[in-house]
Amino acid sequence: MQIQPQQPTVKNPPEWFTGDVWLDPVASPQQEGQRMSAGLVRFAPCAGTAWHSHPGGQTLRVVEGVASMQARGGEVVEVRAGQTVVTPPGEEHWHGAAPDSFMTHLALWETPDGEPSAIWGDHVSDEEYRAPR
Ligand code: MN
Repeated sequence: MQIQPQQPTVKNPPEWFTGDVWLDPVASPQQEGQRMSAGLVRFAPCAGTAWHSHPGGQTLRVVEGVASMQARGGEVVEVRAGQTVVTPPGEEHWHGAAPDSFMTHLALWETPDGEPSAIWGDHVSDEEYRAPR
């Protein structure tokens, strides 16, 4: 057993995020063969990710506030604290806070060998973000 040193909270990079988004790393692979990563991510109102996909898929558990999320080709959906959203490998999507609420989610993902954890695309446009829920 090992209590891990607490890592500093970092601001997520503007290339891949809009608005203020803060990451607390929770878990990352420690040994050969491990793939699991986790992070607690805090979004200010209106802040969110760019469009992206995960080669190993991703599970998002909203732990506080109200989230807005969208999969490519689908509607913008509202997700509330206590709900869990699963995005399958390769599905393009974005996730962020609702326009009028802070939001915190726990992000859980596995990174397949030789692949990035995420493949990033365009920023979410205002039109996309503001689509009716
Ligand atoms: Mn994602």
